[in-house]
Amino acid sequence: MIRFTDNGLYCEAGDFHIDPWRPVPAAVVTHAHSDHARPGHGHYLCHEQSLPVMRARLGPQQFQTAGWGETVMRNGVRVSLHPAGHIIGSAQVRVEYQGEVWVVSGDYKTEDDGLSGAFEPIRCNVFVTESTFGLPVYRWRPQEEIFDEMRTWVEANRREGRSSIFQAYSLGKAQRIIEALRPYEGLLFAHGAVLNMQQALTEAGWDFPRVERLTEHTAMNIRKGCVFITPVPVGGLRVERWMGPNRSAACSGWMQVRGNRRRGEADKGFVLSDHADWDGLLAAVRATGAQKVFVTHGFQSAFSRYLSENGVEAGEVRTQYGGDEEDREDDAVEEKQEKT
Ligand SMILES: [Zn+2]
Ligand SMILES: [Zn+2]
Repeated sequence: MIRFTDNGLYCEAGDFHIDPWRPVPAAVVTHAHSDHARPGHGHYLCHEQSLPVMRARLGPQQFQTAGWGETVMRNGVRVSLHPAGHIIGSAQVRVEYQGEVWVVSGDYKTEDDGLSGAFEPIRCNVFVTESTFGLPVYRWRPQEEIFDEMRTWVEANRREGRSSIFQAYSLGKAQRIIEALRPYEGLLFAHGAVLNMQQALTEAGWDFPRVERLTEHTAMNIRKGCVFITPVPVGGLRVERWMGPNRSAACSGWMQVRGNRRRGEADKGFVLSDHADWDGLLAAVRATGAQKVFVTHGFQSAFSRYLSENGVEAGEVRTQYGGDEEDREDDAVEEKQEKT
């Protein structure tokens, strides 16, 4: 029912693509990360909570939205969106035609982060799953434990007169960290890419703790020992000088692997991901009851081999999804040139 083409996943009966990477007339888009939501399509269908950030990133487009579980008909094909738990508004796409059901997961995580909607297991014949962290070494601890450590780290830095820099992706982890720091009494500051997302979401009615732009005019007693959330390292930039002595932490699933080079210059790593870990991927696949599983971006050969060896018919599919936006900061890199 769905074919893997040069433009992306294509449903011929309904004449639409899902997360296409080349311009097409009609796209169903799982979420607003740049490798899934690309510019240039004639028409976009996305979840209503995805719209504010979609607009902020893609500008005015022909958008159509749907709520969770709402059916949209396309030439007799039933399409509906269901929570993927990855970022705000992220959806799995359920496609039903002539009694057959496919589910395309986009990116997902199975732990409920309190913002993105709880991942919904959906029974289907064919499941298309991501595999960003599809190796057994990737296993996450509950987010509350990580958030406790983050808050303790911030307080310890503050006692030493140091600011705390969180390096986290601007759409997804940044919102989770901002929310986790709600009890923190100091001011939160952020890089422009995070502020843009914050603004789009706040205008859409989301209630996040206040986050501000850090400038040289910010009072000295406020800047010192502040919290700064940024998708890119700020070492050596003016903004780093403004906040005075500091410590930085990279926040990503990749931090699971000790001494990971991706930590770069950061002083610390927090293992926090917007993707399912190994157990989450396996649980998600099993819960679908699918007879056939297609594995996309990530460790697709290892994960599909494991599934095949364990009684689930699986195959890998080549896509142009980013591998992982957790370490691809295309939007942020541009902003760095703008010398925040
Ligand atoms: Zn994503
Ligand atoms: Zn992705």
